[in-house]
Amino acid sequence: MLQLTSTQPRRVVIAGGGVAAVETLLALRAAPGGHLLEIAVIAPGSELVYRPLAVAEPFGRPLTRRYDLRAICADLGATLVPEALTGVAADRRALGGDGASLPYDALVLATGARSEVALPHAATFGDAESDGVQWIVRELEEGLLRTIAFVVPPGAGWPLPLYELALQMSRRAWAVGASDVRLTLVTPEEGPLAVFRGTGSRAVGRLLAGAGIELISGSYGRDYDGEEVVLTPGDRRLQADRVVALPRLRGPALAGVPCDADGFIRIDEHSRVPGLPGVWAVGDATTSPIKQGGLATQQADAVAAAIARGPGSFRPVDAAPPTLRAMLMTGADPLYLTATLASGGASSASRDCPWWPPHKIAARHLAPYLADRSPLMPAHQH
Ligand SMILES: Cc1cc2nc3c(=O)[nH]c(=O)nc-3n(C[C@H](O)[C@H](O)[C@H](O)COP(=O)(O)OP(=O)(O)OC[C@H]3O[C@@H](n4cnc5c(N)ncnc54)[C@H](O)[C@@H]3O)c2cc1C
Repeated sequence: MLQLTSTQPRRVVIAGGGVAAVETLLALRAAPGGHLLEIAVIAPGSELVYRPLAVAEPFGRPLTRRYDLRAICADLGATLVPEALTGVAADRRALGGDGASLPYDALVLATGARSEVALPHAATFGDAESDGVQWIVRELEEGLLRTIAFVVPPGAGWPLPLYELALQMSRRAWAVGASDVRLTLVTPEEGPLAVFRGTGSRAVGRLLAGAGIELISGSYGRDYDGEEVVLTPGDRRLQADRVVALPRLRGPALAGVPCDADGFIRIDEHSRVPGLPGVWAVGDATTSPIKQGGLATQQADAVAAAIARGPGSFRPVDAAPPTLRAMLMTGADPLYLTATLASGGASSASRDCPWWPPHKIAARHLAPYLADRSPLMPAHQH
């Protein structure tokens, strides 16, 4: 059995209660000697929110899943500190509200991103914010709309949910006999879900074309006055009775933690925070350009392996190049996409899920763990 020495990490603090934080906790406990670590999770909420299913809510399908974070921490032998992290002190203390502090040997920042409205007058889709889109679905069903635009703003982090909303809207339009409603998706990407360059992106392009959704790529929806969206470059005007937009993401801007102009935590290629020994950051809170749950969990796994390796220096682990795995909900059978994010990496698209369990967030530890747990009942179903 592993013996802890004075240079081995004893106290690990994980800040955050989301996908990346819980994957870090699970990966630490699964690592050799991980059961010996003293782990505290500092997070303001008592629920782990699984957001990818929120795209089905406006269409009357299952609600965003929530899991009891307190029960998860208890199950994994971690202490839940119900507070928001406010910053990090140079003497290895994680700071909470009211001057409280948690000393750590290793600290993992997984506090996620904040959402901001990117396009005023549009229905912004984001956390617990599907009401506006639900309203648009109702107007579509009542035959009140002729044109709907879907706008990916710069800094959205992960554009896939908007594609899912557009595809499901198209299907609903056909179902209610409103197939003449014009749907347009505007995105700064070079092509359809361009991060899956090649095979994956072409498959998404075919899906959009088959659903009658016009794609305007390489374009920004700058202003919306309730009737037209102004697109740049070119100042083209797109008529739109309603617009659905993703929010712009901002980082947590924690005191004492180096961050970029938008508040995202700076990290190196091993997710270490420069200038803060023993501190890592993972997931949407970081400067990583793609804010995706699956990628966040791969970062978390590599960080957990480095922490568990100890002693002291927390040697980084040579992780495989990150792989993007996405389930695109279409309103019918989903499309499964993968891409290797190394230079020249290939992508694929298939109707069969290439990973197991077939969760929207493909995570080594979290996906099988959540498959065995019951989500909390939504308040109105109690
Ligand atoms: C509609 C939608 C659909 C998506 N679909 C997919 C998908 O299909 N597949 C996929 O892989 N990804 C998807 N994503 C992205 C995915 O949800 C995120 O990338 C993922 O949740 C990021 O995990 P995270 O732990 O970094 O952040 P979060 O999941 O946002 O968790 C952050 C946690 O930190 C806590 N926190 C915040 N501030 C503090 C603080 N100061 N101190 C302590 N704790 C704090 C929060 O309460 C929360 O618990 C989707 C996102 C959205 C919005």
